[in-house]
Amino acid sequence: MAKLAQTKDFCPNAACPDYGKLQSDQLKPNLKKLGKTPRGVQRYQCKTCSKTFTETRGTIFFYKHAEEEEILEVLALLAEGNRISTLTRVKGIKEDTILRWLREAAQHTDQVEDVLMAKHHVKRAQIDGLWSYVRNKGEKKLPGNG
Ligand SMILES: [Zn+2]
Repeated sequence: MAKLAQTKDFCPNAACPDYGKLQSDQLKPNLKKLGKTPRGVQRYQCKTCSKTFTETRGTIFFYKHAEEEEILEVLALLAEGNRISTLTRVKGIKEDTILRWLREAAQHTDQVEDVLMAKHHVKRAQIDGLWSYVRNKGEKKLPGNG
């Protein structure tokens, strides 16, 4: 099942081999505490990629790997102008499920945008279209649907 993880539970660096791997699933956790910021926020360092980050970076849209791949692919296809009804038919995913993914993604736009642009080559304007689509609760067509 999908769940949301805190930043401190995984490395948030998309270029890191341990990106998105939950610490609780790791034999040797790759994150270590690295003091606090002047404002008292816990800082962490990833031993794999050496990047540091703080726990206030927030939660990420986090799923088990296979599911995450599928969700991001669906989000990318929607951003590119495919209809939910098409994806329901082609991929066999319920419309309710896709709408839920969209709502959850919209809570974590920064992280989702990073991945969609870097890995799925979705354009900025397409992503903006996706979020406005979510705000309209999926009632309207995505731009580009004709
Ligand atoms: Zn890392």
